[in-house]
Amino acid sequence: MRKRRILIVGGVAGGASCAARARRLSETAEIIMFDRGDYVSFANCGLPYYVGNVIKKEESLLMATPELFRRRFEIEVRLQTDVLTIDRENNRIQVKDLGSGETYHESYDALVLSPGASPIKPQMPGIDLPGIFSLRTIPDSRHIKAWITRNQAKHAVIVGGGYIGLEMTENLLKLGLAVTIVEMQPQVMPLLDPEMAAPVQGELVKHKVVLRLNETVVGFSGNGDHSITVKLNSGLTEVTDLVILSIGVRPEIQLARDAGLKIGQRGGIRVDEHMRTSDEKIWAVGDAVEVKDVITGQMGVIPLAGPANRQGRIAADVIMGRDAKFRGVQGTSVVGIIDLVAAFTGPSEKTLRQAGLWDEPARYEKIYLHPADHAGYYPGSTPISLKLIFDKNDGRIISAQAVGREGVEKRIDVISMAIQQNATVFDLEEAELCYAPQFGSAKDPVNLAGMIAANVLRGDAHIAHWSELDKDRIFLLDVRDPSEYKKGCVEGAVNIPLNDLRPRMAEIPKDQPVWSYCLVGQRSYYAARALSQYGYEIKSLSGGYITYLSNSDD
Ligand code: FAD
Repeated sequence: MRKRRILIVGGVAGGASCAARARRLSETAEIIMFDRGDYVSFANCGLPYYVGNVIKKEESLLMATPELFRRRFEIEVRLQTDVLTIDRENNRIQVKDLGSGETYHESYDALVLSPGASPIKPQMPGIDLPGIFSLRTIPDSRHIKAWITRNQAKHAVIVGGGYIGLEMTENLLKLGLAVTIVEMQPQVMPLLDPEMAAPVQGELVKHKVVLRLNETVVGFSGNGDHSITVKLNSGLTEVTDLVILSIGVRPEIQLARDAGLKIGQRGGIRVDEHMRTSDEKIWAVGDAVEVKDVITGQMGVIPLAGPANRQGRIAADVIMGRDAKFRGVQGTSVVGIIDLVAAFTGPSEKTLRQAGLWDEPARYEKIYLHPADHAGYYPGSTPISLKLIFDKNDGRIISAQAVGREGVEKRIDVISMAIQQNATVFDLEEAELCYAPQFGSAKDPVNLAGMIAANVLRGDAHIAHWSELDKDRIFLLDVRDPSEYKKGCVEGAVNIPLNDLRPRMAEIPKDQPVWSYCLVGQRSYYAARALSQYGYEIKSLSGGYITYLSNSDD
């Protein structure tokens, strides 16, 4: 009997996981994986750390070799092989051996496209100068390392302050380079809300990274030696030893588009929930496809390794006759920035507002908290700043963002899973999580987030947000200790410490709304609980003074 032929284009995250899964489900299929690059199944996520010498050996980046695929799985890998066209009518592809230049055809019963995404390289003067790099492949990282060594580089400009830009910043700092980040948005990490990105920016500035926000690069020029002059739209110029372009990626859709497969509005290959394209014999997975955001319902391109791997597995399942479905994404991500960690799951407030979903009508609420990552009495605890967005009507969790030093991603992972289970803030309140003092608290930050949000929904806590503060109308009450108040306060705030509140209540006007704040929002909540029972119209500012500082430019 003729063997079923599965051809896979792209042999990294999505392609390799599809190939291996297909073999686990069928010992009889013939599986061939093509990649135009030199490697299969390599760890692109490790590349910045290879540049920074954290990962010392290039071989460590190779998760599997063609030899391993052949011997362990009987999967044939053809490297340096470009898939040029898909002939859908005859179920075959045309490929080119980049070594010999020979082209030939291979026929398929099922074809899987996992061609990834390519770094965006905007057309502008000087863009092709030596010393300007993108980072996607092992050779890219090798070239960056060689350039730095050869030119004894002391300075780099990173264009784009997203996660690859920040990971490269961290690693170049490790190599002793000074770094400037140019970012067209007013903040780094544009997927975070600005007040959550503020600590990240603080960390960068602390390590002497120069941030050029609200700036775009308009061109580059060479200086006769290896150095490059970077020109910004403001007229500023910066001379540097190398430039890393990390302004995003674009799905690799050429092959699919040329074959007449449906492309979505967001520029990725259109697939159904079984990862099948508009051709019933062709599947597509990974960075090249459009996926549905489970919260907003909108299609988008989310270039992350986890979804690519899962989609590869799903495509294999479906090809082998199983009814597997991809649930969609919520963009759960984490990035390390020097000593800080930022993680998030689900859409930011900014994204929800841009999508017109926030006020539809007054649908979502948010809370901020800054609990310790583990019990304060156990040495070494550090704060986590957490923002939780939830549905006002039923308490369903929409998204979360967190920044801190320890335990950040663990909290986001728990909330991510809660979102996938359609859980509510009441579920977070009740969540049973592991605890010992060095790892967490009896009331874990996840529980606390649930409790605070549940208090809001039950009407026990009336909260306000700094962005809504109208100082002419509101009596602003600072309930911290005087020593804290003296170190810094919000202009116009009246300091009555929580412990003195009852005896000094007469100093607080009853004919005006009162907003209370403390350092993180806990004491101000106690104050609000007490004063509301004496007839005050009072709200507590969520996240307290720490969130205020993240909201302001101070
Ligand atoms: P890829 O892994 O890009 O593989 C596509 C392959 O297809 C490539 O090898 C390409 O050469 C080949 N190809 C394309 N077209 C053809 C063709 N016509 N013929 C033959 N071969 C072809 N994600 C995370 O979740 N966490 C991280 O920390 C993280 N860090 C990252 C750091 C860096 C520097 C980079 C570049 C990416 C990072 N990612 C991270 C993203 C993650 O690596 C991708 O989401 C994932 O690799 C996508 O898998 P894929 O199979 O779709 O594409």
